[in-house]
Amino acid sequence: MTRRLLAVLLLALAPAVLAAESANAAKPAAGKAGANGKSRCDLIVTAASVVTVDPAFRVVPDGAIAVKAGEIVAVGTRAEVTAKWAAAATIARPGAALMPGLVNTHTHAAMSLLRGVADDRPLMEWLQKSIFPAEAKNVSPKFVTDGTLLAAAEMIRGGTTTFADMYYFESDVASAVEKSGLRAVLGETWLDFPVPAHKDLPESIRVTRAFLEKWKGHPRVTAAVAPHAPYTCSKETLLAAKALADEFGAPLLIHLSETQNEQKTIREKYGTSPAKWLDSIGFLGPNVLAAHGVWLDADDLNLLASRKVTLSHNPESNMKLGSGIAPVVAARKAGIVVGLGTDGVAGSNNDLDMFDAMDFAGKLAKVQALDPTVLPARDLIRMATIDGAKALGLGAKIGSLEVGKRADFVAVDLWTSRSQPWYDVTSALVYSVKASAVSLTVVDGKVLWDGKTVRTLDEAHILKTAAEWRLKIADQLAAMAEPVMAEPAVAK
Ligand SMILES: [Zn+2]
Repeated sequence: MTRRLLAVLLLALAPAVLAAESANAAKPAAGKAGANGKSRCDLIVTAASVVTVDPAFRVVPDGAIAVKAGEIVAVGTRAEVTAKWAAAATIARPGAALMPGLVNTHTHAAMSLLRGVADDRPLMEWLQKSIFPAEAKNVSPKFVTDGTLLAAAEMIRGGTTTFADMYYFESDVASAVEKSGLRAVLGETWLDFPVPAHKDLPESIRVTRAFLEKWKGHPRVTAAVAPHAPYTCSKETLLAAKALADEFGAPLLIHLSETQNEQKTIREKYGTSPAKWLDSIGFLGPNVLAAHGVWLDADDLNLLASRKVTLSHNPESNMKLGSGIAPVVAARKAGIVVGLGTDGVAGSNNDLDMFDAMDFAGKLAKVQALDPTVLPARDLIRMATIDGAKALGLGAKIGSLEVGKRADFVAVDLWTSRSQPWYDVTSALVYSVKASAVSLTVVDGKVLWDGKTVRTLDEAHILKTAAEWRLKIADQLAAMAEPVMAEPAVAK
């Protein structure tokens, strides 16, 4: 009997009730060995399949994970793990696959309060006529807190355990992340014009330095510096951001080569491509995570690979904004680590579903190459997990289910009419399911979502608050000279 057939049979034998939990929140296990000579741990989770995303891409049918003090202490078959470990709490997901938590390498979480505020517009018009004015009027510590909590609830329910953010008041974003239980790399965004959090470069440096100092060493929050893009930041701004990031050993997040218009603007201004210009001023290095990279050519890709710059590919944003198709296959071939991202939901995507990101990234690459063999499901899962973790400098800590790594993982329910029967679990995870199939989200060994409740957040309050923001912002936009909430044009 093949292992795959065994897995299918095990699924067929799974009880109708998909979730069974033996105990409430686990207390840290005390003592080394308990009764029966078993080692004690805090939590054991069992499932139909464990997709480890380790270097061998081991998939374990009828598998289990044991967790102690927030760390993975065992991964294997259910029989192997339960023979050796006794847990204070067990969670069974017999119809599900366990996989590493998804890593969203590019978003603007607080912009969830602007979800779909001005769809179907060119990027520059969208930014300049809707987003920047709406942000100027509203972005405050309260706005970013409320928006980030809304995004956090969506991410936790959808199996995202780590995200990279580029926005303002990131210290308040960090407080919201801390409360949610998620893990994040948070980049305070700089522009060459005043933003609500800081008015000029000296203030940007001051605010960001305080943010980096405050969150240094936090177990789940990595503070970062995020100059917005080569077309919105001068050489002076970019180099000041780099100097500050280097001083703190922090990541540098930036948008790069997102649109053809950006290529044109930079070429006219500096006579070269955005990537080459950044390199000419000494900006590029291993701590740089560049989002988009849609218009990178072969020379740019080789340059980024040689500087160990990583990329965040945001297929849905690139499609929705009509930006183009990023050369992801070529980038990976050149040796660049490429993670996946959703981008913000204000108009670039409209949700934070990382299962969609995998699905779209695969299909976009295939249609670009006219070749269905490029970016197979395994590579897409790698991009959404371990490669995203590496892109954020967290590859040694998270991104795969291996002993010694932090316990960030999710259960994805495959016992549903849209995913049964499955013959290859990686195909099911990439091409069949959506974020709504996630029935368990664990970060640092703590259950954030049990399939019924987001345990760390008051979702009812979050939704009510979002609706209040919507009323306020819709009124403001309606009062603007050129309303952005107009009725869609009707074909005549
Ligand atoms: Zn973005």
